[in-house]
Amino acid sequence: MGERTPQTDAVAPVEVASGVHRIDSPLGERFTSLYLVAGPAGVLLYDTGVDGTIPAHVLPALGMLGRTADEVTAVVVSHCDVDHFGGVADAREAFANARIVAGADDVPLIEDYDRYLTERARGFVADYGWDEDPAVLAWCRSVTREGALDGVAADGERIDLGADRVIEVLSVPGHSHGHVAIDVPWADAVLVGDAVLADSVDLADGTPAFPPTYRYVDDYLATVARLEGLDRGLLLTAHYPTMHTDASRAFLARSREFVERLDQLVTDALTAAPAGSTFAELLAHLNSVAGRWPVAGTEGALAFPVAGHLERLTGRGRARRVGERDGVAIWAAA
Ligand SMILES: [Zn+2]
Repeated sequence: MGERTPQTDAVAPVEVASGVHRIDSPLGERFTSLYLVAGPAGVLLYDTGVDGTIPAHVLPALGMLGRTADEVTAVVVSHCDVDHFGGVADAREAFANARIVAGADDVPLIEDYDRYLTERARGFVADYGWDEDPAVLAWCRSVTREGALDGVAADGERIDLGADRVIEVLSVPGHSHGHVAIDVPWADAVLVGDAVLADSVDLADGTPAFPPTYRYVDDYLATVARLEGLDRGLLLTAHYPTMHTDASRAFLARSREFVERLDQLVTDALTAAPAGSTFAELLAHLNSVAGRWPVAGTEGALAFPVAGHLERLTGRGRARRVGERDGVAIWAAA
């Protein structure tokens, strides 16, 4: 007794390209893929998972690769969602030599859970009179142990892992303002987290779980275009299978096509109700027509792109807030 029992449920890392190791950590019926990028002088961890993912899955994976926790020199948190930053305190405890960073706009939300709640998880209360399900919020709190970061991962920043293994940070906003990706030139691979999300986020078996949760539409489309221009042979995401060239291109095309389709669906919904619709009414209608995910419990995810489209349509003079009903804002076509 008193000795650490070995983790028997740890998933083995998969080397998807030279020095790039994928770890699919379980997340209910879904998974979150974390990545270790290894060079002779250091190891980079992309994303921390939820609280407990690092001790349960990342540390065993490092051991299977013959590396130690002290060799992890960089932890890059892709963005400010709990399945990606919930393990930040674990990272601090596990990796004494690592610099833990995220995109500048996401750092304050990752470090301060109240700001994450106000600006992200409950970010639709102020403008839309709509709030996330308390059960979802309780789950978010239960899987997160936040902590201070060491700084910012800026676009174009290079991290040297030794020999010719130098990665580059890419700013890929849209899902969040500060989302960052990692370009791995020697492996012709790019790690993108949730920067692009096709036409649904999926369960582990590939069936749709909920809508693509992009939030800032023009930024998101620019990120899709940037990744298309980069055209890496391997597209490595957080919630989808490993994609090679043709599948990567199709995934990016699906991401853009969904944006165009939802923009039209939001426009149509606003036009069909000239007296105005609340955000909740728009979500209820659009959730049943926009995709193949289950309707129950997925409004909170759809809130992200629908708010994004409402804001873009308003900015283009095609939608407007026409007043309030029972104290809740209503929206119509302009
Ligand atoms: Zn995610």
